[in-house]
Amino acid sequence: MYAPTPRLEIFVDRIAENARALIGQCADHSIKVAAVTKVLNAHPALLRALMQAGVTMIADSRIDNLKRVTESGFTGPRLLLRSPTPRSAAQAVQWADCSLNSSSRTVAALSRAAEAAGVEHQVVMMVDVGDLREGVWPDRAVEEAMAMSRLPHVELVGVGANLACYGGVLPSVANMTKLLEVRDQCCEATGLPLEVVSGGNSANLELMASGDMPAGINQLRLGESIILGRNTLDREAWVGTRQDTVRVVGEVIEVARKPSVPLGETGQDAFGNHPEFVDRGVRTRAICNLGRQDVVPEAITPTDPGIIVLGASSDHLILDVTDAASPVRLGDEIGFWPQYSALLVASTSTHVHTVAVNGS
Ligand SMILES: *Cc1c(COP(=O)(O)O)cnc(C)c1O
Repeated sequence: MYAPTPRLEIFVDRIAENARALIGQCADHSIKVAAVTKVLNAHPALLRALMQAGVTMIADSRIDNLKRVTESGFTGPRLLLRSPTPRSAAQAVQWADCSLNSSSRTVAALSRAAEAAGVEHQVVMMVDVGDLREGVWPDRAVEEAMAMSRLPHVELVGVGANLACYGGVLPSVANMTKLLEVRDQCCEATGLPLEVVSGGNSANLELMASGDMPAGINQLRLGESIILGRNTLDREAWVGTRQDTVRVVGEVIEVARKPSVPLGETGQDAFGNHPEFVDRGVRTRAICNLGRQDVVPEAITPTDPGIIVLGASSDHLILDVTDAASPVRLGDEIGFWPQYSALLVASTSTHVHTVAVNGS
């Protein structure tokens, strides 16, 4: 049967294997995993893999993705990672059971929405321990926690931090200890137990595995390490996981022998850049039906190590296939391993067909 291209293949059982491995490793350090689905746009095949692996909490940055999580049959708690806007509070409390927040004004909107809908909603207060993305600055944490704790229809259940995303700050004993100190101050001020201490994302795994994670950090929100099997600090393979979990497939629409340097005077390319070329002489080139609308061309690796990605425009991916393992012909499928950025584009592009592949 013809499966259309461009195509994104999700290897369900392989991702389930990764999720099981990471849940086990985290459990050894008394840490619970919230599995993050955003890089695969909360695709049902991913949900199947995570449920197979026994994931107990699903997290996503988008409310519409959490709606999809619910429609896929997941019945456990759903965590909203990106703070909702005050105006989307009604949708947030409908599709998420808990959300990460850094503003008591937004939490007030959540409280009103929860009352109107007759539902319960939990809140984790984000604390900025240095990465300069979301989070209450530590010197304002007690005041904000007090304000959140006074709202009648939400429950403040803990604190959280996010690192290595915007500022690239590494998770450390110092910043995790800071988070725990803020938690203790907020407990004392509010009288609440604040049991959840959500230390971060995949970038926190190395600190955990080294045995240096301060006791009390009891939740990590893991996306890339589960889905791509990588340590996000250096992109090396993470122990106990596999990396052949998702594949992008394109189809060849032209094969020709051409020089490797363009002829004629050169100006800007389609994206306003001045491209530079390496002269490798006359080479066999192939064009695939993949472009910047489907992937990030700089962030994909051909599954055949003999193939070189030369560049791309919106819709055309240019390959040097001179040294391919077997001769590349018109109509052939070419596979690529995507990195995180390419996967994010592929999974959210309306032009890419996402399919589940079973078996290991
Ligand atoms: C995306 C995201 C995560 C997951 O990050 P990974 O690097 O994929 O593990 C965790 N927390 C928040 C707040 C996020 O936005």
